[in-house]
Amino acid sequence: MSVKLNPEAEKIYGRIEKAKADAGRNDKIFFAAVSKTRTVDEMKEAEKISWVDFFGENRVQEAESKRKFYGSSRLMWRLIGHLQANKARKAIEIFDTIDSLDSIDLAVRLNRIAAELGKVVPVLIEVNTSGEASKSGVEPSKFHELLDTVTEQKNLRLDGLMTVGPLTDDERLVRASFAELRRLIEDSRSRTGLPMPVLSMGMSGDFEAAIAEGSTLVRIGTLLFGPRDYR
Ligand SMILES: *Cc1c(COP(=O)(O)O)cnc(C)c1O
Repeated sequence: MSVKLNPEAEKIYGRIEKAKADAGRNDKIFFAAVSKTRTVDEMKEAEKISWVDFFGENRVQEAESKRKFYGSSRLMWRLIGHLQANKARKAIEIFDTIDSLDSIDLAVRLNRIAAELGKVVPVLIEVNTSGEASKSGVEPSKFHELLDTVTEQKNLRLDGLMTVGPLTDDERLVRASFAELRRLIEDSRSRTGLPMPVLSMGMSGDFEAAIAEGSTLVRIGTLLFGPRDYR
């Protein structure tokens, strides 16, 4: 049986290019296919698309079983969901990068395990820019303290920041949330001297707004695979 991606999927690339042109940008925007709840067969279909750069998964256990069956892949796997302390070791084993680093405790723990394994783990700090209590990510008021801790960890490599925009149709609120993350990354680059190239923001419903505010990595599930079925 052959699996089908969402019919809208073929329009995504053009929409990204248009959003870039509207923003006067010609840098590369990376694309994470958010494959939570999707089967390995669906993921293999997505891997065939030339502009897909990564898989994004939000649960360690789900990713672990899929990676086992998947076999080799040209794509790196990114952890984009909240990471519980007791799954930190597993996460380092399975994922190529951890994008949801949101606390000092987790940074210290990941660093210790990475050192034990003789690895340097690429990470993003996730910031809650929407003010929504249900969202994960460090509060902006605690961001600098976390930033300073992460940069002290020799076995973590801080590549940038991630956020999930607010759940609203109000374009101004969405833009403001993404603009805040952009300000934080600019500020972080001058504070740390690190290049921090990755500004991960934008999902199926708001990636164009994110690109307008400087996103370099969009994370798209629904628009690529179709509606999710949580069972
Ligand atoms: C599920 C998820 C996405 C993708 O959401 P879609 O609306 O399906 O594109 C992106 N980022 C994170 C952190 C997610 O959990």
